[in-house]
Amino acid sequence: MFDKQYFPTLSNNPEVAYFDSAATSQTHQYVLDAMHKYYISHRSSPARGEYPFAEQTDIASAQARYAVSQLINVEADQVVFTSGTTQGLNWIAEWHRNAPTVIITEAEHHANIVPWLQQGRTKQNGRLRVIPMDPYTGEVDLVEAEDIMAECEPRSLVSIIGTSNVTGIRQPWEQLAKMAHYHNHSVCVDFCQTVAHEQIDLSENQIEWAVFSAHKMYGPTGIGALYSAFDFTELKAMLYGGGAVEHVTFNDVAFMKGVHKHEPGTPNTAGIIGFGVAADLIQYEGYEKIKYQENSVCQQLYDSGILDLPLDWITPYREPAQHWNHVPAIYSFVPQQGHPSDVAALLAHTNTAVRTGKLCAHPYVDSLSNRGVVRISIAPYNTQEDCDTLVSDLSRVLSMLE
Ligand code: PMP
Repeated sequence: MFDKQYFPTLSNNPEVAYFDSAATSQTHQYVLDAMHKYYISHRSSPARGEYPFAEQTDIASAQARYAVSQLINVEADQVVFTSGTTQGLNWIAEWHRNAPTVIITEAEHHANIVPWLQQGRTKQNGRLRVIPMDPYTGEVDLVEAEDIMAECEPRSLVSIIGTSNVTGIRQPWEQLAKMAHYHNHSVCVDFCQTVAHEQIDLSENQIEWAVFSAHKMYGPTGIGALYSAFDFTELKAMLYGGGAVEHVTFNDVAFMKGVHKHEPGTPNTAGIIGFGVAADLIQYEGYEKIKYQENSVCQQLYDSGILDLPLDWITPYREPAQHWNHVPAIYSFVPQQGHPSDVAALLAHTNTAVRTGKLCAHPYVDSLSNRGVVRISIAPYNTQEDCDTLVSDLSRVLSMLE
């Protein structure tokens, strides 16, 4: 189900070895089919029309919300559609404007740093606390985490990354959540780099908030999910307009209840439907098979000789080995000769797609390398041929920089 033939961008560019799935994964044919079907056979505004194909849109949208909620094993009315993880984190930041302190990790993506800075929270003024990462394991330092959480006033927010987009290391968010709750803080986890690779089960209300994006899990761009353990009716609306209201006069407004309160305006209906199909596809394939396929691609990279290249790996123990807490989909390195951006610039002239720079995680990458990194990210659709192309292109580029 996740073979290359199901991903049109890849079949339409057979010469390209795509190793940038952590930036955005390719869209599955079935996702495109469902979105196309919406546009050609039942395009209509959801929850607004009585005619038959408008009802079809209502049903497809509701099914999509159910499928997305099932992916993290929560109820459909606990998931609001957003434009993506960035929007979700910005909303959560706004809802926590008055939290005494916000605790993040050193490995956060900018989407979980900048909204807090914009509120005037800084490490310097102590309203933003940063849990350091253990350089050997690539995980947050749990001892420091406990100390910081104990020092912060209750009802602070612990907002952490689930899987690092730099190292691919899975963070012990379950343990951190228990710690946070012990100190009466609430918890938000950014699962943007997790949902495509690992089963997340939030059925026990382990955390209060979660966010992720469809485009990192074979779905469309511009759509994502925000989970809350709280009743959405009680949360301040972040967008105002039509559709999300029950009644409006020139003097007052009565908002709709639950998730609908937060989804005014004509939604990204095709995106929502595509998101639902992507969630269903992952469930259908199963995480065990996905992990098996990702491990196989990793093994193929080894077989192609990637470990023989003069690269310093930014993974636990500085080796890209399959470590127990490593989601086998993200590998970053610094070339022993030359600059990472030169490697990427030269690779751009070949048929290999990788990512370079500071990966929207400047503080973390700066702590790991003073030159940025090159990131290879894999997906089940990568083939042995892709791995051979990557390794031979990289080898050629590295020898040019010697
Ligand atoms: N968090 C992490 C860990 C990410 O990798 C990304 C995307 N690079 C984001 C947040 C932001 O996601 P989006 O661009 O879909 O809003």
